[in-house]
Amino acid sequence: MTAPTDDVWTGGIADDISRTILSAEEIAKRTAELGARITADYRGRDLLVVGVLSGSFLFIADLVRQVNLPLALDFISVSSYGDRTRSSGVVRMLKDLNQSIAGRDVLLVEDIIDTGLTLSYLIDNLRTRQPASLEVATLLDKTEARVSKIDTRYVGFECPNEFVVGYGLDYQGRYRNLPYIGVLKPSVYATEDA
Ligand code: 5GP
Repeated sequence: MTAPTDDVWTGGIADDISRTILSAEEIAKRTAELGARITADYRGRDLLVVGVLSGSFLFIADLVRQVNLPLALDFISVSSYGDRTRSSGVVRMLKDLNQSIAGRDVLLVEDIIDTGLTLSYLIDNLRTRQPASLEVATLLDKTEARVSKIDTRYVGFECPNEFVVGYGLDYQGRYRNLPYIGVLKPSVYATEDA
């Protein structure tokens, strides 16, 4: 399947984007590089990829298709309390894993790490279940906003300290289906606040 190019999506939701941060092509290229590294690192091991819903759904779908191993897949969903664009670190489990991770090589896949508070909670929670190993892959890393230190084995891109949407990332539940990552026009927030 070919990734949709940015210019296919003029009009509609693309009209709400002020600036592209990462194009669909850049994301696809980097995802293939990460997939090749993961394939090499996990060969001969019992890899369980755990996707953190909902934001990582597109990244996981593309990433696992670049990993040439018989991996298993599961999903976890948490909600972090906070205001609309900032997490508080108080996390509620919405959907737990369907299987045991004891003794398995777990790769946690996130869309974006901002303060790191959500992921810290998840890592602490999953460690108590005694996986053989636990590593983190994230598409985007906002290192500037980090409060809680996270060891991230696989990073797609450094992300500027701005609120981004697209490729799985939402604003108020919308824009996840944008095929690339961008910044919303201020008028979108103004409409919401009105
Ligand atoms: P953290 O706990 O690391 O501060 O926040 C992680 C979660 O906050 C992410 O999984 C994501 O849901 C949300 N988040 C952080 N930064 C952004 C952003 O720039 N855009 C969007 N759409 N969500 C973000």
